[in-house]
Order: sequence, then structure tokens, then C-alpha cells
Amino acid sequence: MAVIVIDPGHGGSDPGAVGYGLREKDLTLDIAAKTCDVLRPYAADVYMTRDTDVDMELAQRAALANRLGAAYCLSIHINAGGGTGFESFVHVNAGDRSLALGNIIHRRVSSFYKSSGFVDRGRKNADFAMLRLTQMPALLLENLFGSFLSWLKPPSIT
Ligand SMILES: [Zn+2]
Repeated sequence: MAVIVIDPGHGGSDPGAVGYGLREKDLTLDIAAKTCDVLRPYAADVYMTRDTDVDMELAQRAALANRLGAAYCLSIHINAGGGTGFESFVHVNAGDRSLALGNIIHRRVSSFYKSSGFVDRGRKNADFAMLRLTQMPALLLENLFGSFLSWLKPPSIT
């Protein structure tokens, strides 16, 4: 069976983006676990780079995906800083298959977010470590900046 690796961004001493009483590391873990639940009924072995709140270097995460011989790696993040909407990244030197699969996933996720009124910022290229160090097609999602946090938990009820 094809191996799929889901990578919840950050963890342990690295909370990632923080706001509205929420931390990126917790949300990425939650989203990753739910993504695995969705994928498990299909003919795939699904692994997470971390399934608890632990520190894990990017190189370790990529090495795990490589060691498992993953067919695909999906890294889940929530962008920090200003801005709004959804964007995703393939590596600057991504091959045809990585581009094609990345575009499919981007379209599915962005259409879901669009139905809730969030902007599609596009499928972009970057030299992120998780994309550079993994040897298989990979995509990194940046979900909704801080607007994701406020969407989940408006400040008025924190
Ligand atoms: Zn992040």
C-alpha cells in the first residue's frame, strides 16, 4: 500500500502562530489527525510525523517520510502575521507529479475555504525545508493566517 505522511507543523517548545488562546501546534495536530481519519479507509498507510505535542526538527520529519518510502507528504501549517486566506506551496524544483498532485489538493481545500468566504491566495513555490528535504511529491498548506484562529474562536467568546 502507498504510504502517505501527514506532518503537523511545529510542536513542543515551538507553538507556531499564537492567537485567541489557540496555538498553531495544537491546531495542526488536530487537522492532521482528522486528515488521517479521512484517509485511512482508502488503500494507504497513513503516518503522522508527530502525534503528540513534541519538538521535532524539520530534517527529522523529512527523514521519517523518506525512510518510510512515502508516496506523498502533506505538511500542515497555519500562517502567522497579517493577511487572510489559504495558500499552499510546492518546492521551487517540484517535479510534474508533485505539481499535479499539489494542484489537486490545493483546489479541493481552497474550494472548501471559499465556501466559507476565505480568499484563495494561490498555489505557490517555496524552498521550505519540508519540501526540499523530502524525496517524494509534497505540499505544504498555510491555512488562513490568523483569520483561521478567529474563525474557530471569535475573540468575543475567548
Ligand atoms: Zn507553521
